[in-house]
Amino acid sequence: MNNLKQKFAQFMVGRYGVDEFSRFLLGFAVAMMIVNLIIRIPVLNTVVLLLLVYVYFRMFSRNIQGRYRENLKYKELTWKIRSFFTSKKNQAADLKANHIYKCPKCGQKIRIPRGKGKIIVTCPKCKNEFEKKS
Ligand SMILES: [Zn+2]
Repeated sequence: MNNLKQKFAQFMVGRYGVDEFSRFLLGFAVAMMIVNLIIRIPVLNTVVLLLLVYVYFRMFSRNIQGRYRENLKYKELTWKIRSFFTSKKNQAADLKANHIYKCPKCGQKIRIPRGKGKIIVTCPKCKNEFEKKS
C-alpha cells in the first residue's frame, strides 16, 4: 500500500493535480450521473465521460501554467455566484448572532449582539436612546 502511494506520488511529480475547477467539474459530472439515473438521457453518458476524461487530463497535465490559467478563469467567471452564496451564508450567521432593531424615532436599522440582557441603545443617526432586550 505504501509502495503504491509512493509510486503515485512519483507519478504526480511535475503534474498539475486537483484544483477548484476540477472539483467543480467532478461535482457537475456526479450531478449529471444522478440526473441520468432519474431521467435517462443517452447523451448524458457521453457528457459525463468527457467531463471525467477532461478532469483526469487536467490532473495529470504537465502544463501547470495552462491549467493554472484555466482555474483562474473559472474563479473569475464564478466569483459573482460564489460571493453571492458566501454573503448569504454570512448574513444568516450574522442574524443568528445579532438582532436588528429599528430606531423608533427615525427608523434607522441598528445591529445589536444577542444575549446581552436589557440594554440602552443609542441610535447612531439621531442619538435617540431606547431600551431593548437582546
Ligand atoms: Zn434614530
